[in-house]
Amino acid sequence: MTGHVVKDLRHVYDMVLEAADRVGRPPGQVPASGLEDWHSQMSVLKKRVLVTGGAGFLGSHLCERLLASGHEVLAIDNYFTGRRNNVAHLLDHDSFEIIRHDVTFPLYVEVDEIYNLACPASPIHYQFDPVQTTKVNVVGAINMLGLAKRVKAKVLQASTSEVYGDPTVHPQTEDYRGSVNPIGPRACYDEGKRCAETLFFDYYRQHKLRIKVVRIFNTYGPHMHPNDGRVVSNFIVQALRGEDITIFGNGTQTRAFCYVDDLVEGFVRMMATPDAVTGPINLGNPHEIPIRFLAERVIALTDSKSKIVNRPLPIDDPMQRCPNISQAQNILGWTPTVALDVGLSKTIAYFDRLLATVPH
Ligand code: NAD
Ligand code: UDP
Repeated sequence: MTGHVVKDLRHVYDMVLEAADRVGRPPGQVPASGLEDWHSQMSVLKKRVLVTGGAGFLGSHLCERLLASGHEVLAIDNYFTGRRNNVAHLLDHDSFEIIRHDVTFPLYVEVDEIYNLACPASPIHYQFDPVQTTKVNVVGAINMLGLAKRVKAKVLQASTSEVYGDPTVHPQTEDYRGSVNPIGPRACYDEGKRCAETLFFDYYRQHKLRIKVVRIFNTYGPHMHPNDGRVVSNFIVQALRGEDITIFGNGTQTRAFCYVDDLVEGFVRMMATPDAVTGPINLGNPHEIPIRFLAERVIALTDSKSKIVNRPLPIDDPMQRCPNISQAQNILGWTPTVALDVGLSKTIAYFDRLLATVPH
């Protein structure tokens, strides 16, 4: 479809937003039917989309979703935590390409949209080489923003609930400025992501770039690495192998877990918003649970004989975390739909198949 059709659609959507504002709805909140029409119209426009971190857990699902919507997808990855296996089923697709590339180096390609996901997400991986983690977030963001500026692409940043640190406001709203220890072992990730947000908003103000920032809360699903180190994959792998389930601390710390398909839907909806919508917007499932409850559900769903054991709580491990998703609901018309047991069962089935093929 041609550029002027896209412009017309944007114009229609802006008119819907204005009409909603005139009848006194909060800014950006539009009738659900207007949003649905907008999203279905936007999804038929074929675009060239760059996904950094495309061989990772979230990136591989996003590539799959973008291809299914008819877009051309270029994934880049340095395979630090990602695997070619995650995209093996996409390699024969005419509209898919993957390149080994490190985002800390400049990239010269022509694209319409960029999803910037490249960065290790699990504490054991991002703490393995903390200087590189800060670089990926800061230099990687600068490179992707520079690319977006040159080719006039829209660019979405995968930010994180970690920008809230160990939060004193609960559930976390986007206007909460966070409680991050700038010199602790998690800072390379937390502060790196905070600096990336700063860069996105400075490019928006200074260079009028079209930016989208989403703050992702704990997400899980197939394609997580079996040695990823994050809690859902750890518990499932331990349960399937009959090993002890390692709860760090006493397990009363809370998290809220979002299934990957729900999150990817949120990404796509955010990218399709009019230019005035920049975020940051929280994306996550607001169903908050203690980590001990997660361990119990995994044991029940795998019918495992594993025992729960307690290990020391890592430094700066947040005691509670749960998103307020009012903005995502109002602006994107988005709410997670996959219940915890359903998502866990799909993830367990994935790891069951995977562990059958890899040596213990
Ligand atoms: P992941 O580790 O599976 O994926 C990250 C991908 O980035 C991997 O494929 C890795 O090889 C790649 N990568 C790392 N450094 C790179 C570099 N220098 N150049 C190119 N590629 C590089 O993690 P994920 O869960 O898929 O996370 C994806 C993004 O979402 C990350 O930016 C992460 O911070 C963010 N996020 C994820 C969650 C979550 O719960 N999954 C929560 C908050 C934020
Ligand atoms: N956790 C745990 N056992 C594990 C891995 C993690 O109890 O084997 C805890 C961890 O200390 C944290 C929670 O689970 O309180 C979520 O950890 P994860 O690394 O998945 O995500 P994040 O801390 O970044 O939210």
